[in-house]
Amino acid sequence: MEKSARPRTALNECVKVIVRCRPLSDREQKEGYDEVVKVWPERGAVQVYNPKGQDKLFTYDAAYDCTADTQTIYDEMVRPLVASVLDGFNGCVFAYGQTGTGKTHTMEGTTEHEGIIPRAFRHIWAHIENSASPDVTHLVACSYVELYLEDVRDLLAKDGKKLTIRGQELNGFYIPEMTSVVCKSAAEMVRVMRAGNRNRAAGRTDMNEHSSRSHAVFLVTVETAHRATNRIRVGKLNLVDLAGSERQRKTGASADRLREAARINQALSSLGNVISALAENSPHVPYRDSKLTRILQDSLGGNSKTIMIANIGPASYNYDETITTLRYAHRAKAIKNKPVRNEDPKDAKLREYQAEIERLRALIDKR
Ligand code: ADP
Ligand code: MG
Repeated sequence: MEKSARPRTALNECVKVIVRCRPLSDREQKEGYDEVVKVWPERGAVQVYNPKGQDKLFTYDAAYDCTADTQTIYDEMVRPLVASVLDGFNGCVFAYGQTGTGKTHTMEGTTEHEGIIPRAFRHIWAHIENSASPDVTHLVACSYVELYLEDVRDLLAKDGKKLTIRGQELNGFYIPEMTSVVCKSAAEMVRVMRAGNRNRAAGRTDMNEHSSRSHAVFLVTVETAHRATNRIRVGKLNLVDLAGSERQRKTGASADRLREAARINQALSSLGNVISALAENSPHVPYRDSKLTRILQDSLGGNSKTIMIANIGPASYNYDETITTLRYAHRAKAIKNKPVRNEDPKDAKLREYQAEIERLRALIDKR
């Protein structure tokens, strides 16, 4: 056993921000829209042509144009983060951007173009299979929630029940009644994700509209127990497909719709306020202002390594939304996190299991 535990002082680590620009869609091509975005992958830069004035140039940790596939983004940016989760750190990947820019394509993907989420599942299980030994025990558990109008719904519970977030700002928040499914393979995790998506769509005729207005958060917990050191490391990975960042249309809407629009905007504007407060080192960070920012508290300015993926489209008619997204993403670059390895946390499931095994052993020995 190590004589002295590794120091637990956290090193600051900035949120990594990457931009991904999708190709012009068939419709946009047919309708003859100009492309106004030029990506310089080797410089991590995105240039936006401004028909009325000077071009705008932004730089990020990485920038990908429409020729980059999700595998490249995974290998270059996400793989190291998931490797840290396997080593007991918290990690978060969230996709931000206006509806139709490729958030779901990037995070979830399709069977043909596998997204970051299923790739992370396969990565986790490849690691577990490679490190299999009698001295190591792993436990992987998944949860899946949706946030819509300040309601948190459990997508893995049969009735899709509403959940309550508990806890204090200083100690972080948690969701006591959230379903947690222990999985034994990447394929099983994909099945859990799909079951959650079916729950998300159940009874909705407007699934596209709904998914553009709600946030989906897939949470993975990976516990690793080493017999030699008697230590348990717990890494938590949040995989987030945010609601569309476009300004909600308010014209001609009913009072209900207006209220709804305001509340949909609330979570993303709270997220923006949290990002600004952190970027400016403000003493007060308004995490409490929305459920989304409470859930993402650790991921932003806390104990986590975090990647923000800003998705944009290249067409001229999206100019304003594209600039807004690029500015928002640029601000997030200044956020400093303090990731520490989670060693022997109180809520480790493996510890409970081990305690139960010890108890049963003792019972057997007594006989
Ligand atoms: P969002 O979730 O942001 O609303 P989607 O992921 O649903 O957007 O993407 C909208 C459309 O654009 C989909 O048809 C998707 O397949 C396509 N798309 C998005 N990103 C890419 C990309 N990088 N390459 C090819 N097609 C893409
Ligand atoms: Mg989507």
